[in-house]
Amino acid sequence: PEVLIGVDLGGTRIRAARLDKALNILQREDTLTLAHEGLQPTIERIKALIHKVMPEDKSDLLGIGVSAPGPLNPLTGVVVAPPNLPGWHEVPLAQILRDEFDAPIYVGNDANVAALAEVTRGAAQGYRHVIFITVSTGVGSGVIYDGRLLLGKVGLGGEAGHMIMVADGGQVSTLELQAAGPALARRARAALEDGATSIMTDMVGGDLGLLDASIIGRAAADGDELAQQIVDHSAFFVGLGIVSLLHLFNPEVIVIGGGVSKFGDGWYEKINATVQKHALDDSYWRDLKIVPAGLAGAVSIIGAAALVLTQGGQADVTQ
Ligand code: BGC
Repeated sequence: PEVLIGVDLGGTRIRAARLDKALNILQREDTLTLAHEGLQPTIERIKALIHKVMPEDKSDLLGIGVSAPGPLNPLTGVVVAPPNLPGWHEVPLAQILRDEFDAPIYVGNDANVAALAEVTRGAAQGYRHVIFITVSTGVGSGVIYDGRLLLGKVGLGGEAGHMIMVADGGQVSTLELQAAGPALARRARAALEDGATSIMTDMVGGDLGLLDASIIGRAAADGDELAQQIVDHSAFFVGLGIVSLLHLFNPEVIVIGGGVSKFGDGWYEKINATVQKHALDDSYWRDLKIVPAGLAGAVSIIGAAALVLTQGGQADVTQ
């Protein structure tokens, strides 16, 4: 039987799976990215993981799709300059994998492939104007405009995480720098070092280096005031980012994924309130759906495999 391989290269973990043509996962493996060890060791880990999920008979393999943080060029498969993969600059990932596996290889931006997966199999099925936003180690987006992924000239478009949200006396800051996990951990650490009291100090046993978004989320759910402020800060900026996206693209549905999006109902309420307060007119949000990703942890693997079936996601993906 014909199969696909989907790979999700993330800042923390690499995941790979063998899937059937209906995008059901048949076998799944994962390992740590350990980007700080350098580019080559990470590439070797990607290759080893792909070998693990390879079908016994290699002629059954239709192709390998890889989801990676951008900006990247999906036409050449070159990963250009991802802020959250230190040491990766102009890496010809598709060519490297083609040399190793002698199979069709497609590389796509993680948020773009997640948008592809959500529109074909997840929370955005049946819609033609969709924006997927991931809020995790980075903030990324995939914009589906009238059924097609918005890529731009060489695929570098649709990077909503790098929208500039603050320009204060010449200092600029982006959505990612305000709302992503590491930014929130930095905020919490700075406040605690400044003398704020919070149950988070105990939760990390006094080692503020261990603070991360999931600890902030748990503390906020327990009613911790500092954690709640940080969760609100993230939601406020995600909400403002969505307002700009509504004004630019007028989508029908916004799907949100990524670790930070697991902050819960309060986070979504604050996002909705921000959107309703700051959009130009209620016609932007009256019929808008802002929903959590339907495919959760498997979204990038499924989307990556879907790249193989859609020749890199450049066809109309809603057909
Ligand atoms: C990258 C995006 C990516 C996002 C989430 C950002 O830093 O530039 O391409 O979608 O992180 O991984």
